Amino acid sequence: MQCPFCTDDGNRVIDSRLARDGSEIRRRRECDECGRRFTTRERIEETLPRVIKHDERREEYDRTKLRRGVEHACVKRPVSTEAVERLVDRVERGLHESGEREVTSVHIGRRVLEELSAIDALAAVRFASVFRDFSSPSDYEAFFAEISDEPVHGDASEGADSVEGTVRSFRARR
Ligand SMILES: [Zn+2]
Repeated sequence: MQCPFCTDDGNRVIDSRLARDGSEIRRRRECDECGRRFTTRERIEETLPRVIKHDERREEYDRTKLRRGVEHACVKRPVSTEAVERLVDRVERGLHESGEREVTSVHIGRRVLEELSAIDALAAVRFASVFRDFSSPSDYEAFFAEISDEPVHGDASEGADSVEGTVRSFRARR
């Protein structure tokens, strides 16, 4: 790390401390050459893809937002906070392992639906309605038609059955 004042790359750490709830280390450094001090921050590289919204805008992935969406769908349903956290973990792991730089919000929503419909079908339908900003029953129909037609790749075939189960149970409730 070069000194920002004289660009010499020799320096020593004079203080280290955790910041941002432990997700960052700040190091106070002193330049060997000019003696000036500066701070460096070390964080785990964030490799989760950015999210492409319906209107093509891009957003940083936001775990809190996703978790709140799932929690909201699970209000008064027999789904524990722990189960919600694990669900979000699995979705994040999938995003991380995909290696994609950008994914659509529909893709993330579908992944959550697969996971959620295996836990609680009604919560999955609620999640779909909020996630897609449904305003009429035809929006549900269009959405479920869309996710039913989508080929599900890899080992997620079990999830596809669950989504279809959600569609069926949704239709049965209407
Ligand atoms: Zn210097």
